[in-house]
Amino acid sequence: MGATGSGYLEARIVEYVARLAAGLEDPDAFSPRILSRLYREAVVNVALRVAEPRDRVLYCSLCGRGPYTRRGLYLHLKRVHPHEILELVESEVRRISAYAKRRGRA
Ligand SMILES: [Zn+2]
Repeated sequence: MGATGSGYLEARIVEYVARLAAGLEDPDAFSPRILSRLYREAVVNVALRVAEPRDRVLYCSLCGRGPYTRRGLYLHLKRVHPHEILELVESEVRRISAYAKRRGRA
């Protein structure tokens, strides 16, 4: 079962991705207890992918819209892309798991 089985957890995951992508949260200090290590890693990886910094402003990598301030991108991601963000996180979780299995870590 993935994180998408729970509405609360889903909302938290979208929130974390949006905050990290917008630079409102430090990825090095990011360690919410609600998420497993696997999900934390996936959330950070997806967050790096959904924002594109350009000329000191931010653009959305999912739809190309912008420019946004940090707060603006955060709100945009949460309002417009919650489902895409969850799909990206789930697929990243699967990718990391498969990689770990091949490496004999799982
Ligand atoms: Zn967008």
